[in-house]
Amino acid sequence: MQIVSCPSCGAEVKFRSHASVMAVCEFCGTSVLKDADSVKDLGKMSSVLEDYSPIQIGASGVLGKRQFNVVGRIQLRYSAGMWNEWYLLFDDGATSWLGDSSGIYTITAEYKGNGITPHEINVPEFERLRPGASYGINGAPYIAAEVRVADCIGGQGELPFKVGEGYQSKVADFRRGAEFITLDYSDSPRPVIYTGAAVTLDSLRMQLLRDDDAIQRSARRYRGKLDALDCPSCGSAIKYLPGVTTTLVCPACQTKIDAASPEAIVLAAGERVTAARPTIDLGATANINKQDFTIIGMMRRMDDEGTEWTEYLMYGARAGFSWLVETDEGWSGATVMSEWPVVYAPGQQSVAVENAQYERLYDYGSHVTFAAGAFNWRVAVGDRTHVEEFQAGQIRLACETSDQEMTWSRSAPVAVDQLKAWFGEQFHGRATPAKTADNKPFVNNRYRNAAKYIIGFMLVINAIPLLTNFSGTWFMNAIGALAIYLPATFLDSNDKS
Ligand SMILES: [Zn+2]
Ligand SMILES: [Zn+2]
Repeated sequence: MQIVSCPSCGAEVKFRSHASVMAVCEFCGTSVLKDADSVKDLGKMSSVLEDYSPIQIGASGVLGKRQFNVVGRIQLRYSAGMWNEWYLLFDDGATSWLGDSSGIYTITAEYKGNGITPHEINVPEFERLRPGASYGINGAPYIAAEVRVADCIGGQGELPFKVGEGYQSKVADFRRGAEFITLDYSDSPRPVIYTGAAVTLDSLRMQLLRDDDAIQRSARRYRGKLDALDCPSCGSAIKYLPGVTTTLVCPACQTKIDAASPEAIVLAAGERVTAARPTIDLGATANINKQDFTIIGMMRRMDDEGTEWTEYLMYGARAGFSWLVETDEGWSGATVMSEWPVVYAPGQQSVAVENAQYERLYDYGSHVTFAAGAFNWRVAVGDRTHVEEFQAGQIRLACETSDQEMTWSRSAPVAVDQLKAWFGEQFHGRATPAKTADNKPFVNNRYRNAAKYIIGFMLVINAIPLLTNFSGTWFMNAIGALAIYLPATFLDSNDKS
């Protein structure tokens, strides 16, 4: 550790990591640049916005068998919201980033290459990247999942590069099966390559986190607990989950609110529209396989031929987010997929994911015609996506592409009787259409068992790079094992109905 005096206030500023080039004085907020011989004052760093993150500088954890401490943080804002990157220093001197986006955590480490110098790694140019397109990176095709430009809005602690007012982060995420990598073009047209993995704070056995009460004291609300915020425009109470849902659309007046931080900001005034009564009430709760779920948002979407359907966003404390989708043909439950196809190209006749083959059904353009409630992304009426659907038995995959990102989700049918059993009086749907009622090929929890198997498998292969050489391995991930578990829950529930 190196200790220097803050050029502005004289307080001690610590550099724990050799890789750190600057640190923010915790007393006066001055950015201190650590040069070879001298210490430079870079001016004041904007202080980070209060948020609901349980992580703080000084917290510690374990990845594989390696101990780390949180030594720095940058906070970033982009078109879809805000997130934190926490700078981790391992006991062996290595460093990584812990991404923290409203309760979704990822660890990324710089890929140093297996004897390959960065100049030999073939990567595309940032300006040419398009979500959904496939790019050859280091000899294998990767699908661009998200391309984003973000502004650094604040920093804390020590950091491995010079960052301050006007610092722009240009990054793109790529997927290939269960692998994910990030290319960071912020400092040069030749990006730094990071390999990543999704993690939970439990799996990192983190200590010295801010507890629920500490977050409540500073942010005035409990993170992840259903709360209500008064609409700044009309005063109606809008139910949401602080720290988990970031965009609110007032159900009464359609005003759009950014609720990523405790200072709720109006994004756009609403226009009053008369929406049809939803089939499931916003705020409706259900106990599904011993877990409590709440309906927190709903949106109507329309395809290019004018067919409309409704999607209800549902949240469970352990299961996270899932969807109930109501169409003219009946209901289905959907979750975002953690694993993507290894090979994909737009218009492809079939895709293989997790050892199953799905055949192409159709593709169409769609846009959002109405939204109300709380969401974990910045939804807006008029949002356009291109959707491709694939099918195997009763399981469907939907691949949705917008200008910024591509997502994959998996869905399975849910019977109306089942929804009635879950939601009771809060469900206003009609009887099950005959064609789905007669069609029950599923027996005895076999889907859930299969899902459990997949989760176990993912955790096992995930542990191998964790236990060997994290930063030198093409690292693969196990994003939210629950995302796989939940659609299986939908399927099994159908069997029993
Ligand atoms: Zn100072
Ligand atoms: Zn309102």
